[in-house]
Amino acid sequence: MLINLTDILTSEGKAAEIEVESGLTEINCRSGRYVIKEKQPLSLTMANLGKGKALIKGRMELVFAMNCDRCLKPVRQKVVLSFEREVYGPDAYPEDMEDDDQGFMEGYQLDADGLIQNECFMNLPVKVLCRPDCKGLCMRCGKDLNQGECGCDTFVPDPRMAGIKDIFEANKEV
Ligand SMILES: [Zn+2]
Ligand SMILES: [Zn+2]
Repeated sequence: MLINLTDILTSEGKAAEIEVESGLTEINCRSGRYVIKEKQPLSLTMANLGKGKALIKGRMELVFAMNCDRCLKPVRQKVVLSFEREVYGPDAYPEDMEDDDQGFMEGYQLDADGLIQNECFMNLPVKVLCRPDCKGLCMRCGKDLNQGECGCDTFVPDPRMAGIKDIFEANKEV
């Protein structure tokens, strides 16, 4: 959805507050594709900061369908976006601005979904856990260790000792 910011960017002292319903159903990023299970409208506060310049503040809560990094169980991951961005009209770009600094702007229009995606990329959790003490899956048999021990020998020898162990075993075979 495009929001026209012409008024905010060109009228000194102008401010506005709006709620935007987003049509986004998923987010695609380098680490994967995440379906949005729930979302609130984006609350946007916009204020003119001088000629061709405005400050936008946004807040939104979303719930993503993700998977626990340790046991792969589905997790409803809540993500709260709360951000502030300075935006510029096409005739007021600062000299040091990079092309993708405001990739969510199209001229005087703000692409709300583009902005939300941008903020999601920056706020998706690095680690997703079904619970803070998730025990994960057994590396050997794949059993969910939250449901109990599997009895596998998961002893991981010290890598330095492993070398010595290899020598022992090699000798045994002779
Ligand atoms: Zn888990
Ligand atoms: Zn096991």
